[in-house]
Amino acid sequence: MFAEVAFPIRGFQTFTYSIPKRFKDRIQIGSRVNASFGRRTAQGIVVGLKKSTSFTGNIKDIKSLVDDISVMTPALWKLITWISDYYTTPIGQVARALFPRNLSTRYTPPKQWYVQSNISLINQLDNLKNRAPKQYELLKIINKSEKKIAISSLKTYVANPMQICKVLQKKNLVYIYEKTSFPDATGFTFDPIFKEIRFNKEQRSAIEQILISLNKNIYDSFLLHGVTGSGKTELYIEAVRRCLSQNRTAIILLPEISLTPQIAGRFRAVFGDTIALWHSRLTQQQRSWTWKQICIERYQVVIGARSAVFSPINNLGLIVIDEEQESSFHQDSPAPRYHARDVALMRGRYEKAVVIISSATPSLESYFNHIHNKIKYLRLSKRFGGAKYPIVHIVDMLSDKEETGKVGQVISGLLQDKIEERLSHKEQIILLQNRRGFSSAVRCRDCAGIVMCPECFIALTFHQKRSKLICHFCGHSKANDNISCNNCNSVNLYYSGSGTQKVEMLIKETFPNANVSRLDMDTSKGKPGITSILKSFSTGKIDILIGTQMIAKGLDFPNATLVGIINADLGLYIPDFRAGEKVFQLIYQASGRAGRSKKQGEVVIQSFSPENPVIKSAGSLNIMEYYKIAMLERKELNYPPFSWLAKIEVIGIDRESVRNLAIKISKTLIGHYKGLDVLGPAPCYLEKLRKKFRYQLVCKSIKTIDPNGVRLHRFIRLNFTDEHKKFRHGTNRINIHFDPISLI
Ligand code: ADP
Ligand code: ZN
Ligand code: ZN
Repeated sequence: MFAEVAFPIRGFQTFTYSIPKRFKDRIQIGSRVNASFGRRTAQGIVVGLKKSTSFTGNIKDIKSLVDDISVMTPALWKLITWISDYYTTPIGQVARALFPRNLSTRYTPPKQWYVQSNISLINQLDNLKNRAPKQYELLKIINKSEKKIAISSLKTYVANPMQICKVLQKKNLVYIYEKTSFPDATGFTFDPIFKEIRFNKEQRSAIEQILISLNKNIYDSFLLHGVTGSGKTELYIEAVRRCLSQNRTAIILLPEISLTPQIAGRFRAVFGDTIALWHSRLTQQQRSWTWKQICIERYQVVIGARSAVFSPINNLGLIVIDEEQESSFHQDSPAPRYHARDVALMRGRYEKAVVIISSATPSLESYFNHIHNKIKYLRLSKRFGGAKYPIVHIVDMLSDKEETGKVGQVISGLLQDKIEERLSHKEQIILLQNRRGFSSAVRCRDCAGIVMCPECFIALTFHQKRSKLICHFCGHSKANDNISCNNCNSVNLYYSGSGTQKVEMLIKETFPNANVSRLDMDTSKGKPGITSILKSFSTGKIDILIGTQMIAKGLDFPNATLVGIINADLGLYIPDFRAGEKVFQLIYQASGRAGRSKKQGEVVIQSFSPENPVIKSAGSLNIMEYYKIAMLERKELNYPPFSWLAKIEVIGIDRESVRNLAIKISKTLIGHYKGLDVLGPAPCYLEKLRKKFRYQLVCKSIKTIDPNGVRLHRFIRLNFTDEHKKFRHGTNRINIHFDPISLI
């Protein structure tokens, strides 16, 4: 027997090896093997098996198997070949990116004590009520969860949960036992949240439609479009519950799971430790351990960031993608450069699973697919429990500055008044400024130049705490004292634009009695960390929370009634076809944080361009109006969803050589079929990053001619599977991005 093996190299070639007898029964397509490759031994993946070979050279033996269990399911293998094909990435590279390097690990997760109620004696609950109120309270909580609960998590309710649980066990009302607890980055998840759910009419109708497809065991896809706070998360939980009851499994994809500990916590509350968490904060060992546990069917649900879509879970029935419009579902680098939403839809097909893509602000692509009946549409139009949508005020910052003369520029008079009012009612406030650091740029008063990163050609951002100018791309930093203008060497500089740090400083000055906290990439890294900041906010220890887009979504704080958007225009003028869409989504999502329960919420949007249609439609929370505007614009310019895009990026250290290669590629590509439009080459918006120059070409293939994008993919594959030979690019690199989420 012979095996065709793919290695993680840039080429698409595979190599033939013979399979020694001792491995004969264990090697399958998709097995990982070690074999000599050139002068070293390398890890590869078996992509084909055959009885004979026409290869006449010296055929070597496969040396060993990497894994002692099967690390893949047949459907997952199909998915991997699809990815390799669709995204024009050699299969060896795809495999290397997806699998943990080595599954054998010494890691064993710590153990924990758990409790579960004894359902048969549930009617004795009331007997406890008067005699032992503490036991009664705790048992009520334990009863609500269908699965076992970590006893330590009950500390929120009583000081000594272990003791009480032991007493309850003696009375035969609960079972307690010690169990391995799966890997979590410490302090990462929220404690379980327990609540009773009774679905309203809209929710019920949505759940019923999902169930019909689940029960049929077929592939089906739904766009769940529900306003913020309409109960989408409760719906996922219900769908997962039904899926598990059919003995099938589920994957939940969240954008950057570390930013959404609340949702993970809610799942945990219901499903206990049948859930595996899969995210970037796991250590290498924890990843290996978790992967292996999934392979041996230890978990029924995997919840995680984009790469969780590849988890080797068997018998998959349901995939949910929460906040599908989020750009974090797209992997830009390294290859494979994929979109987890699109991969999930494909996996759903292979697995005959139901795929729910969900959002309060569906991407234009998904909305377009609904309009063209490519996906079933479920709508939750109202907030749950009659929570009203917030009242929105748009402040024209230009005229506000003239009128009030209050803090000026950064915080308008109106926002200041509203903050004061909410503070006096002991309600909480969220302020969004989608830019970290203190000031966005350091400018020269003499020549108006901006202090730039020498490696990247972008403005350095001032960080007050460290008194440094920092590049947000490569991390290059410069001490703040003794900087001068790159152009004219003047030291007559000033800080222009404001980041979260400046907003924090101003708010603290203006409201000295309020508890103010900041949440952005800078504060979430260190102590106290994101979970603890969010916890403090949820327990009311923080009055005003300032942050970047990290605080804009997924959070559910009933007492937060005011949201202020400090500068709604940020990002609006970036030269990218999705700039407006992103700004709209951010404003809309952030507004959704206000007034999520009984109290009426309010939003103050500050803008220097209040007449801009994006700001206007976001301000009126009118998503249909926004879709209308945006679709027209996209159609006129033939951008997605009206076309398929491929971005070809050329990167290298010498500008001339990069440019020449880009020109050469463009000459090969232009005018090949009707409906193909090649733009560029042009320098990328960020022309120099980390010392390297970047040029790009954009291929647009119009849907009226290429409805499924097949032509574009075939065309790119034809030109780039052997691109080394074709273009002789030396040390320059060519990266292909299909369906890029931005062109900058
Ligand atoms: P979304 O995910 O759409 O933002 P959530 O699922 O977070 O909405 O729901 C908003 C709030 O309303 C949550 O606190 C949730 O528990 C509650 N909720 C939603 N639906 C129900 C229901 N049917 N019964 C009880 N509480 C509900
Ligand atoms: Zn200058
Ligand atoms: Zn830099």
